[in-house]
Amino acid sequence: MRLHTLLRYGAYPVIFGGVATFVLAWSTFDRSPWPAFALVALAGLFAVAVLERVQPFEPDWNHDHKDTVTDAVHVLVNLLLMSATAYLLHGVAGRLPTMTVWPQSWPIALQVLLAGAILDVGLYAMHRMSHHVHWMWRLHAIHHSAERLYWMNGERRHPLSALLLAGPGLVAAVLLGAPAAVISAWLTLLTVHLGFQHANFDYSLGPLRRWIGGAELHRWHHRRDYADAQVNFGEFWLIWDWLCGTRFDRPMPVQADDVGLDEPFPHAYTAQLFWPFASRRRHF
Ligand SMILES: [Zn+2]
Repeated sequence: MRLHTLLRYGAYPVIFGGVATFVLAWSTFDRSPWPAFALVALAGLFAVAVLERVQPFEPDWNHDHKDTVTDAVHVLVNLLLMSATAYLLHGVAGRLPTMTVWPQSWPIALQVLLAGAILDVGLYAMHRMSHHVHWMWRLHAIHHSAERLYWMNGERRHPLSALLLAGPGLVAAVLLGAPAAVISAWLTLLTVHLGFQHANFDYSLGPLRRWIGGAELHRWHHRRDYADAQVNFGEFWLIWDWLCGTRFDRPMPVQADDVGLDEPFPHAYTAQLFWPFASRRRHF
């Protein structure tokens, strides 16, 4: 088998599977996720970055678009935010009034999948709202302002947008009694998945592309035309897009200059943080 084919179909399952094995094993010991989960998430993202150099989807997207430093800050800030959330969950574990419906006796992998499904439904709903409620769109627009798609775009988010997107699903999972280790494990897996989802890496999920939100379908979500970008909202699963009629697939790839926003956007990190509160333009 050619190396290209091997990487195209094998890289995602090997790397995502490796990270999953690590976090599941760590979760069974009931130890603090900090800093182990943040480090393994960074290792997964680094692997995606290397694969982009070996086998890019679009060579031009491997070059700086005046965005590399800003995106690195986004990655650090949002990974710290995720770690702080995981750490906080561990700190308050057992002290919050929660329901007793959580299936504690299930194998850890199934519990992580269940927590992931709850978080993913919340993310889908909030992501869709972020495209239709004006003030939420202004916070979310930073994510869509990327002029290229690559490994750091998964974390290119306004911290308030990240909290808005993940908040309801997290609260629901906690109230249902999901253990902190289970939620932290899914957040770590999701970070690596989001790196793949935005990766400038020529890979395929094969027949699973219609059910898991990989780069092949997610690139359609980043089209420059606002009307065209109302598809494939799913963060991990595309089941919600399928059920709600927002899944979109075409055999032809997205073009290099077809992603971004149709208006100028600041490049500096602090300017991006303030942009949502200054911009008046409506997209809808
Ligand atoms: Zn979006």
